[in-house]
Amino acid sequence: MTTKAMLQFVSRDKEMPAKRKAEARKGDFLEIYDDFNDEKAALQAGRCSQCGVPFCQTHCPLQNNIPDWLMLTAEGRMQEAYEVSAATNTFPEICGRICPQDRLCEGNCVIEKGFESVTIGAVERHITETAFENGWVKPPQPMSERTETIGIIGAGPAGLAAAEQLRRQGYQITVYDRYDRVGGLLIYGIPGFKLEKEVVTRREALLRDGGIRFELNCQIGDDISFDQIKKKHDAVLIATGVYKARDIELKGKSDSDDQIVPALDYLTASNRLGLGDNVAAHASGQLDVKGKNVVVIGGGDTAMDCVRTAIRQEAKSVTCVYRRDRANMPGSAREVMNAEEEGVKFEWLSQPTGLARDADGKVAGVICQRSRLGAADTSGRQSPEPIENSDYRLDADMVIMALGFDPEDMPNMFHEPRLKVSRWGTISIDWRTMMTSVDGVFAAGDIVRGASLVVWGIRDGRDAATQIDGWLTRQAADKEISAEQKAAS
Ligand code: FAD
Ligand code: SF4
Ligand code: SF4
Repeated sequence: MTTKAMLQFVSRDKEMPAKRKAEARKGDFLEIYDDFNDEKAALQAGRCSQCGVPFCQTHCPLQNNIPDWLMLTAEGRMQEAYEVSAATNTFPEICGRICPQDRLCEGNCVIEKGFESVTIGAVERHITETAFENGWVKPPQPMSERTETIGIIGAGPAGLAAAEQLRRQGYQITVYDRYDRVGGLLIYGIPGFKLEKEVVTRREALLRDGGIRFELNCQIGDDISFDQIKKKHDAVLIATGVYKARDIELKGKSDSDDQIVPALDYLTASNRLGLGDNVAAHASGQLDVKGKNVVVIGGGDTAMDCVRTAIRQEAKSVTCVYRRDRANMPGSAREVMNAEEEGVKFEWLSQPTGLARDADGKVAGVICQRSRLGAADTSGRQSPEPIENSDYRLDADMVIMALGFDPEDMPNMFHEPRLKVSRWGTISIDWRTMMTSVDGVFAAGDIVRGASLVVWGIRDGRDAATQIDGWLTRQAADKEISAEQKAAS
């Protein structure tokens, strides 16, 4: 039943949490948005019109029960709001911070037309932050232990969401990761100004407290064979993400150009520096952008993270080159706006074609050609068409390639030819069971979908956990029946 706390969107304006001024936030890697306080969260949640068919919910990959937790927040019933929110989302405080809400829940909020959407993400974050402050967020606590063990390869959001849910069911979980820290791209990809690292390590601590084991610095297929992992565990989940950087042809580019850098190398180095690690490529100056003209090629979230990182590292100039226009950019509109506020220059409808060099042969610029949008391609997006004789040069001491990622060659990496992959190299699964072509081996997250979003990783991890639980339970029942039949015969 709708209470009088709700439906306030006509008289109450949308307000986002306070955002730090660009000048202040450029000097550090701290998050740029504050958390709401209780009063603000309640007032903003109360703008919701409690739709009978909530489009916000249908466009949330986790199908979060948004209207209910908004109402509970508006009424100040925060513990109940947390319980409803946590029932469908393993890491709501992370999604509240970094989901592209403008493309998901908020972009589909019905009051968006005319009144501006409810600030769903910010309220979701506030609910879980309140829960942490009050000690309501607990480690996974199984009602009873099960003997089956599950090996999860990859400690990113997909692997961690599955680990948490399976541990709650009482399974013995080991998560393997080739990195030295838990979190996957939450730790080494996404910069602190979007997601402070403590938010991730706080979750890691809870998972460890709940009895989940982590084997880090452990590359499966290299340090331990995939076959050994399969033999060691009753079920295996592959959640290894996608890491092979895409490239483009640039006239005059050579493999020895150390001024041309893949986006993830740059972001990982920056995140490591922030975590206090020594980064040789930064110390040597190769990945240090201070005082340099930086050109970032690409228009997705990764490109936005690179340009905003370069601003914080005191680059002389930062330019983002994208071949389509602003409206067709794959990155979140909010992130583009934040980047512009921080001083990033955008070159829309511009296609890099080659490199310019100085007298010593060092890269000194990127040659670009202007383009216009032509006919739509198979995906329905208009394709950029080059404009003749429109070449121009951008000064560049460092060029960062942020053109997206493809999967590594999984069957070869795991020496497992039975592992079927799609024509894009992603692992093929039966979507009803989340199982791969190898019996007892499941897969989830980017390695199945291709480069996607954290919220989809969580969704897939949770779905895989449900399927693994069902499969192991059926296996145990089958074993019991055959043991009984053996005893009876
Ligand atoms: P990952 O997070 O990639 O985790 C996979 C893990 O598997 C890694 O820790 C890796 O080390 C490990 N691994 C791989 N191979 C092996 C092996 N052989 N043995 C052991 N371990 C292995 N999404 C959003 O929703 N919002 C954002 O703002 C956003 N920003 C992004 C910014 C950047 C720079 C990037 C690159 C991505 C961003 N994304 C964002 C996408 C999001 O991070 C991913 O979709 C998500 O992390 C995928 O989760 P995953 O668990 O499938 O994979
Ligand atoms: Fe919106 Fe993401 Fe939260 Fe779903 S998980 S409600 S899409 S912020
Ligand atoms: Fe509330 Fe908007 Fe969702 Fe409707 S679509 S229930 S107004 S948040």
